[in-house]
Amino acid sequence: MKGQKIVVVEDEEDIRELIEYHLLREGFQVFSASDGERGLAIINREMPALVLLDLMLPGIDGLEICREIRAAEKTKHIPVLMVTAKTEEADVVLGLGLGADDYIQKPFRPRELVARVKSALRRKGFSEEEPATVLVRGPLEIDSVRHQVTLLDAETGMRAELELTATEFGLLSVLARRPGRVFDREELLELSRGESGMALDRVVDAHIRSIRKKLGGSRNLIETVRSIGYRFTERA
Ligand code: CA
Repeated sequence: MKGQKIVVVEDEEDIRELIEYHLLREGFQVFSASDGERGLAIINREMPALVLLDLMLPGIDGLEICREIRAAEKTKHIPVLMVTAKTEEADVVLGLGLGADDYIQKPFRPRELVARVKSALRRKGFSEEEPATVLVRGPLEIDSVRHQVTLLDAETGMRAELELTATEFGLLSVLARRPGRVFDREELLELSRGESGMALDRVVDAHIRSIRKKLGGSRNLIETVRSIGYRFTERA
């Protein structure tokens, strides 16, 4: 994630500097603009990994920038995080409708902003690497369109559908998409629910326990990596 380009479009100088400072400290390359026109020009020139967009801007406003980012073939995949004032809630809804990926409200804690940025970048990286299809992993078949998981019984040769909750399905899919890759619990929660926020380790543990129970004899497909999280293995 380090070294990735982020464009910040924000007209309030102190907020812009605060955002720049914290992103630079995390090792990102930061390009910023104080108005919409320059913002769009920089986005088109730098092709950043992510855009942080203030809604109320002089000239072209944040919603229009978002619309233009989504309309152009070469920029439409770039995640957009809106930075908004509380009074702009209606605009947030509009912005999400225009394809913004997430939003953060002013005043925000810098740590939260950085976490949201990283979360959006991770989601993007993840979806690019793994298009939605039917995944076959050992005895498991995971259909991410129909949200169905079937498990092959080695003894009978029969396939049975697992009854997983939405969260369990999300967790299992995330793990199985990248066998061998270790995920910490926070990543698991973010990736499986598409949300950021405080991770609750024991919540993940409880879901994993439940998935394992349903996997029965194939429970070892999900390995515990001590003090970190979990990984899907094809060796089971
Ligand atoms: Ca503003």
